[in-house]
Amino acid sequence: MAIWNLGSINIDHIYRLDHLPDAGETISAQEVTQGLGGKGANQSVATARAGAQTCHLGAMGTGDQWVIDRLAASGICTGNILRLDRTATGHAIILLDAQGENSIIIHPGANRMLTKAALQSCFDRIKPQDSLLIQNETNCQVEAAKAAKRVGARVIYSAAPFEIGPLRAIMPHADILAMNAGEAAQLFAEIPGDLPVEGLLITLGGEGAEYRDLRTGQTYRQPAFPVRAVDTTGAGDTFAGYFAAALDRGDTIPDALRLAAGAAALQVTRYGASDAIPMLEEVVGFLAKQA
Ligand code: ATP
Repeated sequence: MAIWNLGSINIDHIYRLDHLPDAGETISAQEVTQGLGGKGANQSVATARAGAQTCHLGAMGTGDQWVIDRLAASGICTGNILRLDRTATGHAIILLDAQGENSIIIHPGANRMLTKAALQSCFDRIKPQDSLLIQNETNCQVEAAKAAKRVGARVIYSAAPFEIGPLRAIMPHADILAMNAGEAAQLFAEIPGDLPVEGLLITLGGEGAEYRDLRTGQTYRQPAFPVRAVDTTGAGDTFAGYFAAALDRGDTIPDALRLAAGAAALQVTRYGASDAIPMLEEVVGFLAKQA
């Protein structure tokens, strides 16, 4: 079993501030740091650190080798990441306030310059027992989802950042939609009726998460673990990645939700996105101490 993740790779520039600026306001940052982020990279780091064999599909510029090195250090197969000439690696400006809330600007760069021709040989290697993760920060998601679905692999689509066009195009080829509460509200406003997927994973920040099995009508709820959150950037990706890895190894939905909530709880206690994602051993240790 392997997890293929067609996903964005971003370099995060993180500015720590007292408060997020209002329109027209200029403020000084207390600190600026650089880290590995992007919904795709975050989810690959999460699945790999959760113990799943993970192959990342994506694109970057020709520099920034440290990004590849850091993905590989998490155990991710990076051999299928395209390196594009005269194209910037995707990057994000992340403003982070003292309460851990954030505002984010993304420049997609290479993330949106993928082609089906370049990815086809990877699509051809997806096996029925594999999973494919996709999000909304690259292109070629429909092609990837069709290829995975054709062989019967599980397709998990994080509909984030929310865009109704891609959602409508991808949903017929997806098994599970993953989103946060705001994205779920937009989804239900746009599509009030039945959804053509097997399940919905909805993360609810400090309230926890739920999984709605649309085949049986059952909803599984998982409260968040009480921790002191300092930075929630990448919490949803940590949750989605751990959840996917747990399903990949055959966990039940309640077990997958608990593991993912433990991973996300630890992740929000640390600064950064990918760099803050815990290893499986840490999550297991953390969960053992919870009631
Ligand atoms: P982001 O966009 O900031 O990366 P998100 O909006 O996609 O995150 P959230 O729903 O905010 O995702 O959080 C994902 C998961 O992280 C939650 O379901 C929960 O398990 C965990 N989490 C988030 N905030 C907290 C918190 N304050 N305490 C404990 N766990 C948290």
